[in-house]
Amino acid sequence: MNHLSIHKTFDNGSFVMLINDTKERYLATQNFDPEKSVYGEKMIKLNDIEYRIWDPFRSKLAAAILKNLETNPIKESSAVLYLGASTGTTVSHVSDIVGNKGVIFAVEPSARVAREFLENVASRRKNIIPILMDARDYLHYYSYYGVVDVIYSDIAQPDQTDIAINNCKSYLKKDGHLVIIIKTRSIDVLMDPKLVTKNEAKKLERNSFEIIQIVNLEPFDKDHSLIHAKFMG
Ligand code: SAM
Repeated sequence: MNHLSIHKTFDNGSFVMLINDTKERYLATQNFDPEKSVYGEKMIKLNDIEYRIWDPFRSKLAAAILKNLETNPIKESSAVLYLGASTGTTVSHVSDIVGNKGVIFAVEPSARVAREFLENVASRRKNIIPILMDARDYLHYYSYYGVVDVIYSDIAQPDQTDIAINNCKSYLKKDGHLVIIIKTRSIDVLMDPKLVTKNEAKKLERNSFEIIQIVNLEPFDKDHSLIHAKFMG
């Protein structure tokens, strides 16, 4: 990785773009859980601040940012409903970004990955509230909390967009943001991936969303796109 320095600072420094001597770029987030690496990612100290390198091959949000996502709606202090937490790779970086004043409601139904998520990530970070349920059961898991600023959805299901829309209608504030990862092969293996993404974007538009940006995640993730949309309420 050789010598790294800060190239660009985002959102009050909660995450940064680093650059090395050969001009390769890396993302990194300020570690909210000091000295703990979550998935084997490298850690680096710059100006006395500990950062965790954010791997775009492991986290689709990092891939989208490196592929010029114009605005990351997840910021310091954001309240985020995260669908499909898995073992917590991306959730951990989102937790670094939202920090002390933010909160993440992290939904994951699979006991196999949830155990690792709880032990390694959620139990160590005060800004994460794990919800061990299916996001299709959105009416049951979340009634004790009001609305959130952002819903992030990465669940690789054929009905992934409908699940995200239902969650938004119940828990996303007006003018709040949806970030949804479209795994095109989960929806239709035969259709052109670009067309699948376009159809899902149209579905969002029919349901009171304004599309802000669509980012193709190749070469980091094949047949995946990220849609960033605003919920008009
Ligand atoms: N977002 C994770 C990350 O970047 O670290 C990776 C998520 S992985 C691609 C998809 C996850 O969605 C799996 O852990 C799976 O168990 C979960 N999932 C699948 N169907 C779901 C549903 N109906 N509700 C909530 N989560 C679901």
